[in-house]
Amino acid sequence: MNTNPIECPKCKERMEEGFLLDITHGANLWTRWVAGPPERSFWTGVKLRGRTLRDVRTFRCTGCGLLESYV
Ligand SMILES: [Zn+2]
Repeated sequence: MNTNPIECPKCKERMEEGFLLDITHGANLWTRWVAGPPERSFWTGVKLRGRTLRDVRTFRCTGCGLLESYV
């Protein structure tokens, strides 16, 4: 994990690390990146079988509020 401060590409202020949260029925979940376009599922909302999932880190600019995500 990169611990060096990241500079905002727009305003050059400091970017702080965080993540995007999904609040669902009784759970707080960390948003994941999924390979390929979304496919609807009647049972689960979105089909994930055979898909590659990756953790997403999102940085927020303390100056202009830009969000930048990395997988
Ligand atoms: Zn900025």
